[in-house]
Amino acid sequence: MAESTVASRTAELSARLDGLLARIEAARVAAGREPGSVRLLPVTKFFPARDIEILYRLGRREFGESREQEATAKVADLRALASSDEADSAIAWHMIGRLQRNKARVVARWAHTVHSVDSERLATALDAGARAALDAGERAEPLRVLLQVSLDADPGRGGVVPEELDRLADGVAESASLRLGGLMAIPPLDADADSAFARLASLHTSLLGRHPGATELSAGMSGDIEQAVEHGSTCVRVGTALMGPRPITSA
Ligand SMILES: *Cc1c(COP(=O)(O)O)cnc(C)c1O
Repeated sequence: MAESTVASRTAELSARLDGLLARIEAARVAAGREPGSVRLLPVTKFFPARDIEILYRLGRREFGESREQEATAKVADLRALASSDEADSAIAWHMIGRLQRNKARVVARWAHTVHSVDSERLATALDAGARAALDAGERAEPLRVLLQVSLDADPGRGGVVPEELDRLADGVAESASLRLGGLMAIPPLDADADSAFARLASLHTSLLGRHPGATELSAGMSGDIEQAVEHGSTCVRVGTALMGPRPITSA
């Protein structure tokens, strides 16, 4: 990749990042929320490791990926960068996409947080994977998981139905190698984002009653950041508004 191309992509990502952080900050202020209460999680799926490296050099230390194979390869590509001795060099990788149980073990080796846990079977597989990774010295901390909630009961999009949320949360909280971090949701395609996020917020409030440490609320994407922040999102997962349109792939 020519230097000039890297320079122009850096300028582009830097400008979009500044604009996006300003947009999130404006949403936070409009919602009357505390400074620092909403984090940006850049979503880098479909974009090359080189873009992640640029964002890393711009100061980002968390990245969201949604496909296991692609993510595992990028984690390996960026390992050298993120394991230098400098303070604050580590990357926290977030798995945000649907995850099959047979991929749980490999994801548990590199993920800081999995946002898409929606069944006890998947939680059990991740717990076993995290246990193995801890034993092998591949990770130092339990795996943090967010429970993905279905707001429309469409099984195709993933997520646990609200009626089963407490049971799943209790099971994760009791898993030795998992830590219950909070909730995640994707609003239904045809629904009003505002009412979907309001529903999510009320589920989060009741979860916090049982599990006070489950403070993360992963909600909001490029098109609905403001509504998500209005309803208490602590982590907006943003792809397109930062990276540009996703490249066309055959995958
Ligand atoms: C791709 C993706 C995002 C980012 O979506 P944009 O609309 O591009 O910001 C957020 N969350 C999940 C689960 C995704 O798969």
